[in-house]
Amino acid sequence: MAKKQFKAESKRLLDMMINSIYTHQEIFLRELISNASDAIDKLAYLALTDQNVGMSREDFAIDLRADKKLGLLTVSDNGIGMSRDEMEQNLGTIARSGSLQFKQELDKDQTDVDIIGQFGVGFYAAFMVADTVTVLSKKYGETEAWMWQSSGADGYTVSPCEKTTVGTEVILKLKADSDDEKFSRFLEQYELQNLVKKYSDYIRYPIRMEMEKSRRKEVPEEEKDADKEPEWETYTELTTLNSMVPVWQKAKKDVSDEEYDGFYKDKFFDYEKPLAHIPVSVEGAVTYKALLYIPAKAPYDFYTKDYKKGLQLYSSGVMIMEHCEDLIPDHFRFVRGVVDTADLSLNISRELLQHNRQLSIISANLEKKIKQELLNMQKDRREDYEKFFAAFGRQLKYGVVADYGMHKDALQDLLLFWSAKEQKLVTLKEYVDAMPEAQKHIYFAAGESNARLAQLPQYQRLQEKGFDVLFMTEDVDEFVPRTLMNYAEKDFRNLATDDLDLSSEEEKKAAEAAAADWKDGLDFIKTSLDGKIVRAEVSADLGSHPVCLVPGGGMSFEMEKYFKRMNPDMPIPMEKVLQLNPEHPVVQKLRTLIAEDPEKAKQYAQVLYAQGLILADLPIEDAQAYTDLICGLL
Ligand code: ADP
Ligand code: MG
Repeated sequence: MAKKQFKAESKRLLDMMINSIYTHQEIFLRELISNASDAIDKLAYLALTDQNVGMSREDFAIDLRADKKLGLLTVSDNGIGMSRDEMEQNLGTIARSGSLQFKQELDKDQTDVDIIGQFGVGFYAAFMVADTVTVLSKKYGETEAWMWQSSGADGYTVSPCEKTTVGTEVILKLKADSDDEKFSRFLEQYELQNLVKKYSDYIRYPIRMEMEKSRRKEVPEEEKDADKEPEWETYTELTTLNSMVPVWQKAKKDVSDEEYDGFYKDKFFDYEKPLAHIPVSVEGAVTYKALLYIPAKAPYDFYTKDYKKGLQLYSSGVMIMEHCEDLIPDHFRFVRGVVDTADLSLNISRELLQHNRQLSIISANLEKKIKQELLNMQKDRREDYEKFFAAFGRQLKYGVVADYGMHKDALQDLLLFWSAKEQKLVTLKEYVDAMPEAQKHIYFAAGESNARLAQLPQYQRLQEKGFDVLFMTEDVDEFVPRTLMNYAEKDFRNLATDDLDLSSEEEKKAAEAAAADWKDGLDFIKTSLDGKIVRAEVSADLGSHPVCLVPGGGMSFEMEKYFKRMNPDMPIPMEKVLQLNPEHPVVQKLRTLIAEDPEKAKQYAQVLYAQGLILADLPIEDAQAYTDLICGLL
């Protein structure tokens, strides 16, 4: 029988399959099963209008059969089947099939095998694992059956064959095992079962296989002997491997919370039940279903590069991608879940997928749903929300800061900060709503711990005024107000670096006058400190404290420390400004000493500077000299 040749582009794809060093060989099974499912869809559809088909939904099935002796794996279906012409057209030409898009990728002269990624390449995937592929098929309504056979790139044959039932049987003669490739694993029942679970669990028809099982041997009553070990026997049973109906395809009202949670735990290997599940069903420009989860805890690798974000992407019940990153924005990368849409071809390539308009529509829509769910949780289940925030708040803050603050408006209402006044976490809205009339700004302080921050003289001053302060103790925190700039038209003021705008006009004038009046004194203090500060100044914001150290550059001490930690060799100038409270008795004493006893005044200046260091949580440069100094004065 004469061999027919594959069309040129088919041949190229075939070559790639045959010589593939491709790591996702196992997807061949998914491809064959989904073809079988498509063929059944067609006949099932026909049966709706054509009495003669004589089949109902329950009659359809896909069967797997493994013959270890002969090294054969068979996938058969009772779907529509193929005529002789269809076999030639559909199996001989890649352009006919849904692999068209893949072919277009190939035409761009893309030789890198990796473009296949995890995506399907259709029927030809069979050649990744098989030397010879034989397809027996009988088309519904025809009397003859046909056999298509190919051992790869050298062509294929089509000939008549015996087949009594309508449908298709694809028989793979698996490649021989080599040192690195054990093709025979595709004959093991547990391997096949796992692959079906992994890729084809939600195919709507049963995928069945004779499974070998074992059971206790039945022993007749009279032969029973308590001392004898029970005997086991093996038997085979036709077993359905897939669960068929995916949870996300069911109506929300038909699924209990337990079922939603159970699905999450199974699918995403989490022991803890999720804080929320979000079922989504959309019909419109893009029709899809999704089921999203908000985990209760961050996976151990969440804040590392090992963590893989993304949702599982299904096309009509068939998984085409395990971590589709484009479906979820980075700031919500903790969300787990699945998206299923019939609008994507199974054979779409990774590159095409990246620029896929449908995906961006889905992703934008899911982002809104997630945000809404989080806001609801924040409002109605505060405790859960705080748990969520403890796990993923840092990610949200990164999200605010990332991409030049592009997402800040979307994320700002999801943030929580520690309120010094309320002694609990509050949202920015709660903070602003609680602001007294006289308060014009949102005050925050960044540092190592709440206890430390509570020591800040500026904080005590604000406290006296009845103004709340947000305490920020995480690395990323201080960048958040810098990025947000303001909230509800109130700007953020950093206790450590910004003008707190607390004094009345008169007070300000008085301070200015005092400073002018005391210019020589301030210069004296600067000189006494040997270049440790860039200037000394008078401040009306210090409450009952004599002094305070503030950074001279735009960066707070906390931020400087953060950068130093990140990069210890980076020379960061810690420019310091010493602020003095002219009302404080010690400062007033210093003033008189400058005139009367400059030597003592110098010591006073040094002690006050050291106090500033302590309050700012900065190290005392020379602890020995400092203690000597204090003892001397005492
Ligand atoms: P796709 O499934 O995207 O169309 P494939 O390469 O997987 O591409 O399959 C090519 C074509 O071969 C299918 O479109 C279908 O017409 C035909 N085909 C493959 N397997 C079967 C089958 N089991 N029953 C009937 N037709 C099939
Ligand atoms: Mg297919």
